[in-house]
Amino acid sequence: MNARQSSVDWVDAVWDVACVVCRVSGATLCEACAVRVVSSAPVTREIAGLEVTALGGYRNELRTLIRAAKAGRSPQSVSRLSPAIRRLIPLDATIAVPMPSSRGGFRQRGWSLAGRVARMTGLPVRDVLTFSNPRTQRGLTADDRWSGRSMILRGRHGLSGHFVVLVDDVCTTGATLTNARRALEAHCVTVVGAVVLASVSP
Ligand SMILES: [Zn+2]
Repeated sequence: MNARQSSVDWVDAVWDVACVVCRVSGATLCEACAVRVVSSAPVTREIAGLEVTALGGYRNELRTLIRAAKAGRSPQSVSRLSPAIRRLIPLDATIAVPMPSSRGGFRQRGWSLAGRVARMTGLPVRDVLTFSNPRTQRGLTADDRWSGRSMILRGRHGLSGHFVVLVDDVCTTGATLTNARRALEAHCVTVVGAVVLASVSP
């Protein structure tokens, strides 16, 4: 190997990317980890009459991938799961509505994992939901304040006649999803189901 070749290799190594799950270099989500994530059986839960389908349980590679994406480490790697997400979408869904961001940082950056997953469905995405005033509940942790918050629709939602699939990154109690459905149904919008990346076992 000559000196020039060596310096090129050094540059490649510096700019190389590593799998966010297993740290093997080559891709932000390596083939082996991607296969492991999508090969787990989908998890379906019924929460207050709402069918919530997840790619898998919130554990192992899937959990590592989601935590990395939420921390802003190679969030684009989640997009490799798009084909698997599309298989979970209810057939009658015509539009995807992501859950609103609960964290100020995401909102400021204009980026949210739920929004990214919504775009992965291949359906038109309408980001119409927002939390009602989150600062009125004192004495609760941030997570308590956000989970179970009631939601409202922003402005002219234009969803009449559409069949909505709700989209989120992780489903824990399902309170966020069922509150979203309530807000949409109050405006006579039909919700046909929910799709999430991962479900935390109840
Ligand atoms: Zn990997």
